[in-house]
Amino acid sequence: MQRRSLFHASLAWGALGSLASLIGCSTASRIPEKTRVLVVGGGYGGATAAKYVRVLSNYQIDVVLIEPDAAFVSCPMSNLVIGGSKTMADITSPYDSLTSHHGVHVVRDYASGIDAAKKVVTLASGSSIRYDKLILSPGSELMFSAVEGLQSAHASGRILQAWKAGPETASLRQQLVDMPDGGVFAISIPEAPYRCPPGPYERASQVAHYFKQHKPKSKVLILDANQDVTSKGPLFKKFWADNYQGILEYIPQHHVTAVDTQTLTLKFEIQEDVKAHVLNVLPAMRSGSIAVESGFANANARWCGVNYQTFESTQAKDVHIIGDSILPAPAMPKSGHMANSQAKVAAAAVVAQLADMPVNPEPFLMNTCYSFVNDKYVVHVSSVHQYDKKDKTYKAVPGAGGLSAAPSALEATYALNWAQNIWNDTLR
Ligand SMILES: Cc1cc2nc3c(=O)[nH]c(=O)nc-3n(C[C@H](O)[C@H](O)[C@H](O)COP(=O)(O)OP(=O)(O)OC[C@H]3O[C@@H](n4cnc5c(N)ncnc54)[C@H](O)[C@@H]3O)c2cc1C
Repeated sequence: MQRRSLFHASLAWGALGSLASLIGCSTASRIPEKTRVLVVGGGYGGATAAKYVRVLSNYQIDVVLIEPDAAFVSCPMSNLVIGGSKTMADITSPYDSLTSHHGVHVVRDYASGIDAAKKVVTLASGSSIRYDKLILSPGSELMFSAVEGLQSAHASGRILQAWKAGPETASLRQQLVDMPDGGVFAISIPEAPYRCPPGPYERASQVAHYFKQHKPKSKVLILDANQDVTSKGPLFKKFWADNYQGILEYIPQHHVTAVDTQTLTLKFEIQEDVKAHVLNVLPAMRSGSIAVESGFANANARWCGVNYQTFESTQAKDVHIIGDSILPAPAMPKSGHMANSQAKVAAAAVVAQLADMPVNPEPFLMNTCYSFVNDKYVVHVSSVHQYDKKDKTYKAVPGAGGLSAAPSALEATYALNWAQNIWNDTLR
């Protein structure tokens, strides 16, 4: 037990490193007056970074957060809204506490351009804001053009993604409620990497659970472009076999190339067309559009390369990029927990650099990802990643992570506590 506490204490220390000592010493004398950190995107990465730059600088640095949405709506737990066991209100939190507890200036706007040479961000409203350091966490963008017909299908509201929690989450739930018993729900998954590896399988499980309770003649089809289930595979597949036999069918190696909105049909590279009553088509993904348009997505023109020790862009000085937008290090998932963890390392590095202090040489990142397989049973996967100075990347710490032995109700309690804790850590 003592060893475990020590291990967790060292993880917290590992994430923040030399900043723990920075808080204790006189940051005021080290950080020039009117120093400003501008954060773009108030999701898991950006909101956490905004808070921690304030906290770790002893409230010396002015932090401005740009976010177009009125409130934080969590993707984690949003599949439960689609399954019907949670509501939108359960996954929505205001941004107020970032301001009242931490003095973050939250500006409801959209960053439309970045001039990294002049250190200025232009907003959709027409104004512009200067920065000393920029932290970008705009999430991931869906590449609608990768699937023929998907952009117009999405615009018409007939084929939804709900891969950013919000109004689409509620609309997809409504499509399932309106679907007649005996209908088919089909979800298609792009090749990895994409936002939240287990997310589509959790969603399919939620819909299967809903059908089992309320529309028992209906079916769920998972059409996966990957070779196999990309996360927690054996756990999902065993639960499906034991509980959703005849309801849920998993079909790998199916790469969607086009959709027909009128007939709700999916077309594939090789295989026969598939028709459904409700289609949930997830196209390939890339860095949030502001990062792509600013020229920071320098890895396959999709993801942003970063120095993993500080999360500074390999393309632009004083621009730090975190969350789903970055090119992941090996075994690093695109998850909310990972974005939150990266945000603290980036915030610590940003504050250290602005205070002219050394950055943590070997930061740690952590991730735990829970998936609900029905409304009461949960499975998890967890990992710890340490920065390797020699290879300049993160490596999973052997033996520090793990996978559930089997789905359990106890894990559901852990999952709900995890959500509450991370929302508190991100926003309060
Ligand atoms: C269905 C589903 C379930 C998931 N479940 C889990 C889970 O259980 N656990 C887990 O850890 N992760 C989960 N995830 C993944 C997680 O949601 C993401 O990995 C995480 O949100 C990434 O954080 P981020 O900060 O990169 O992006 P986001 O949290 O999406 O935040 C990006 C923010 O940037 C804003 N933005 C974008 N562009 C601009 C701009 N130009 N100007 C200003 N603001 C901008 C957006 O409005 C948004 O608020 C799930 C995802 C989905 C879709």
